[in-house]
Amino acid sequence: MIYSGRCFCGDVTFRVTGPVKFACFCHCESCRRASGGVYVPWATFAKDSLIVTSGNIHEHHSSPQVTRSFCSKCGTSLTYEHENRVGQIDISLSSFADPSEFSPSAHIWVSDKLPWVTIDDGLPQYAEWVTSD
Ligand SMILES: [Zn+2]
Ligand SMILES: [Zn+2]
Repeated sequence: MIYSGRCFCGDVTFRVTGPVKFACFCHCESCRRASGGVYVPWATFAKDSLIVTSGNIHEHHSSPQVTRSFCSKCGTSLTYEHENRVGQIDISLSSFADPSEFSPSAHIWVSDKLPWVTIDDGLPQYAEWVTSD
């Protein structure tokens, strides 16, 4: 299965081959600050299955072991990589052509969740990170 996506302005386009290893909502403070949202839906893929087909991505270290990327023109938050998960990359579900193709299966970093965000979808909640394997 091949999925495509883009940043808000359309300068960055990408293609990634499934399967999706894991999809979740992250409530951590870093995701909030990077995205401007209250939590971020992510999907995890094999890193080498992601191909940036156009545009310029800028990378930065939001924590010592974390690399995030965003469109250098419009700033859309696109990917997340953690040194402890070698060979994997998380892609913002909101950037896919059809985010409804994915079904997040958990909430992570609920310990950082804002008090006025209510989770009532019945999905499992984890205080911090949970690995898919
Ligand atoms: Zn852009
Ligand atoms: Zn996060």
